[in-house]
Amino acid sequence: MLFSINQYSEDVLTSWAVKLRIALSYGRTDEINNTLNDFLKDKPPVKYISIISGTSNYIYPPSPSDSLYRHLDSVIQLRRPKLDRLKVFLKQGYAKLEPFYVPLDTPLVSLYFVPDTLNGSNLLYGILLQPENFVRDILKNKIQQVAGKDFTIPVINGVKDSIVAGPDSLLASQFSIRKELWFLPGYYIGISPKGKSIDELVYERAWRSYALIFILNLVIVVGVIVVFRNIRKALELVQLKSDFVSNVSHELRTPLALISMFSETLELGRVRNDNRRNEYYKIISQEAQRLSKIVNRLLNFSQTEAGKRKYHFEFVDVNDVCGKVYETYKFHLENNGFSFKYLEGKDIPVIIADYEALAEAVINLIDNAAKYSRDKKNIELHTGHNESGVYIEVRDQGIGIKEKHQTRIFEKFYRENTGPVHNTKGAGLGLSLVKHIMEDHKGKIELFSTYGRGSMFRLLFPLKNNQKLQQLLNSGPEHDKDPDS
Ligand code: ADP
Repeated sequence: MLFSINQYSEDVLTSWAVKLRIALSYGRTDEINNTLNDFLKDKPPVKYISIISGTSNYIYPPSPSDSLYRHLDSVIQLRRPKLDRLKVFLKQGYAKLEPFYVPLDTPLVSLYFVPDTLNGSNLLYGILLQPENFVRDILKNKIQQVAGKDFTIPVINGVKDSIVAGPDSLLASQFSIRKELWFLPGYYIGISPKGKSIDELVYERAWRSYALIFILNLVIVVGVIVVFRNIRKALELVQLKSDFVSNVSHELRTPLALISMFSETLELGRVRNDNRRNEYYKIISQEAQRLSKIVNRLLNFSQTEAGKRKYHFEFVDVNDVCGKVYETYKFHLENNGFSFKYLEGKDIPVIIADYEALAEAVINLIDNAAKYSRDKKNIELHTGHNESGVYIEVRDQGIGIKEKHQTRIFEKFYRENTGPVHNTKGAGLGLSLVKHIMEDHKGKIELFSTYGRGSMFRLLFPLKNNQKLQQLLNSGPEHDKDPDS
């Protein structure tokens, strides 16, 4: 505290010295008295300004006081070592002020500094200051601010042992802790706690500081963790993206290779057998469909991701959607050795949804159920409703999903990259797309899965959200992605 008051007075006085130095360096010589007058008017605690060169010495305003001239003489005699020191400081860019302990009859304090012109000159500028005015006009507010409500900090005149600034009721002798004011020789600042003892205050402040240090450390630790996690996430995303590119290329390459191989064979006219030829045509058409499915999925995904997908909301019966999907996929799945069952719920309320988007979500789930089934090729499609809302479930008895992957598989590009999934083709977009579609329908997707036993994905449409969609439905046929917009 005492240090900060001293520091403050140094700052103020140094800034005055700088001002005076500039005024004297750049002011016109014939107007020097005006310049000094202005300076003195501006800084009331300063009573005189002296300019000492050794040969000619000057004091402003001129004073009849003998003691002032004796003061100047003493400064001239004492100045050598101090002048050299001040010059060294100035050379290093520090405009230092130096108090001269030269006794004066009048209660003045003299502070000297050197001007910028160092070229051999022995000039010294001095500020002669009334210390008590300086304390009252300049330091008082700062002292009150530093003392706060816990301390009393008076300024003490050391010679008279009297209090210059501070509560009148106090005695200077009460203050055991004193520090001299750097620039006001003979003046001290005392310190005494209000109400509490110094020990108690130190204890309190120490605890406050410990708490602060603890909080700061905590903030740093949390910051480091957050940065670390962000970096890890960014690295993971880079990895996922590169996996995605290779997965998609892989998915595209297979149908393209088959199409080009069979079409070339047909083009060369090497296939004589009609049945064989038909089979090749069928393969080409199937692979072309597969290709367009992949491309459509990518396009749909990028549109949904960018929030540009337009939905056509209408009243939809989930049994209608699932019935159609079932009919379309039944043949294909059964051909591949699956048992595919559709268990239709009764009296299901209609929901407000986009028919095509809903079908796309269900197809994605069925696709996955087939992709991630091994020996037990059983897939079930369920519809129903309960107090939570209307639901569609796709169940399989496939490889299941480990718990640690269960939340992450809905992230884009995310694929389990070890174990049985590794060999299955995919781009890691299907579930992310389904999740987007469900969010845009104000619904959600739930997963129940046991690793090695199978999985169930449930699309849930809470009926209370139908109201929001209803408003949207009333406002027009085509809608942006967000039903709230
Ligand atoms: P993709 O199937 O193209 O990899 P998805 O987003 O559809 O992408 O699925 C992400 C991941 O979730 C898959 O890689 C797989 O690990 C897992 N997964 C999805 N559906 C199933 C399922 N029915 N059974 C087991 N794992 C599944």
